[in-house]
Amino acid sequence: MTGLEPRPWIKKLDVYVGGKSQVEGSGKAVKLSSNESALGPSPMAVQAYLAEAKTLHRYPDASYHDLRAALSEKYDIEPEQIICGIGSDEILKLACRAYLAPGDEVIFSRHSFMMYPIAAKSFGGVPVEVDDTDYTTNVDNIIKAVTDRTRIIFLANPNNPTGTYIPAAEVERLWRNIPGDILLVLDSAYAEFVTAEDYQAGIALVQKSRNVLMTRTFSKLYGLAALRLGWGYACPEIATILDSIRDPFNVPSVTQVAGVAALKDVEFEDAARAHNRASLDFLTTELKKMGLEPIPSVTNFILIRFPGNGDKSAEAANDFLLKRGYILRWLPQSGLGSYLRLTIGTSAQNREVIRLLKEFLEQ
Ligand SMILES: *Cc1c(COP(=O)(O)O)cnc(C)c1O
Repeated sequence: MTGLEPRPWIKKLDVYVGGKSQVEGSGKAVKLSSNESALGPSPMAVQAYLAEAKTLHRYPDASYHDLRAALSEKYDIEPEQIICGIGSDEILKLACRAYLAPGDEVIFSRHSFMMYPIAAKSFGGVPVEVDDTDYTTNVDNIIKAVTDRTRIIFLANPNNPTGTYIPAAEVERLWRNIPGDILLVLDSAYAEFVTAEDYQAGIALVQKSRNVLMTRTFSKLYGLAALRLGWGYACPEIATILDSIRDPFNVPSVTQVAGVAALKDVEFEDAARAHNRASLDFLTTELKKMGLEPIPSVTNFILIRFPGNGDKSAEAANDFLLKRGYILRWLPQSGLGSYLRLTIGTSAQNREVIRLLKEFLEQ
């Protein structure tokens, strides 16, 4: 006994469990469990990363001048209002660190990103989960859950793990109906995939607000998950606060240059989006044909409901696919025991998943 005790809320923390990347016994696994890029990273980003390796002895640019400039140019936003982080996960945590006191409430939707309760609890925040409707964020339920203790609302739009989104008008309605002393975090990790016209990632809302933070990531469409690069955009006051509490050298130089190159590789971005659109159509059609129930998705993954029980359940399908080297995500801890989440793969991988699922259902 040393008598050394962590803060009480740290002791009760859940640990984030990532998608599996290996399967026992089988050789090479196909990992379709973490929403990683089907096309790999942008070749231009890889090239920039390798070239920058020669300066590993230098500290990175603490103000990420070039990365902010590239983002500013691409989205026509002020570089001073951009903050960069070790994945968007860091930005979510910076928001909690800046605005939460122990006992403050943090609202998010049921069936949403598992980092929200973890980030909230690591600063003593109290997670408040509200019901969704048909796998989609229900704005009214969020508004109803607001109390004097609410400090942050996390909204993943599109949402993970359901793949659904709410239109810009709904996000705006939410913002209009919450007090100005609550931070609305728009987590737009999958924004680059969305082609729906009534969708917005949050830039316009940030520009007319003082309490909205949009977060984005290079981990999904840009295929740079290993480099851990995310960014946020907010009014100058919020951006300055978050920037003041991050570590000065949080984003490595190799990551910064790869990010800049990825933003400029428009050809890769367009190819990734087109591949995703075509794959979503193919997979959704095929899954429905075999009697499974894919939730309509605008992202690079599909949540699939398995109506069967026992040897035709989602759990059994998960085991069946794992044995054949295909790793999907079964999420019983999120209340989704009858579902598997499938990340879009290459065309060959998508066809093979469909073939295996047919075999599973017919066996
Ligand atoms: C993947 C994901 C993120 C981002 O992750 P980072 O790799 O930390 O940038 C954020 N939010 C949601 C909803 C995600 O699915």
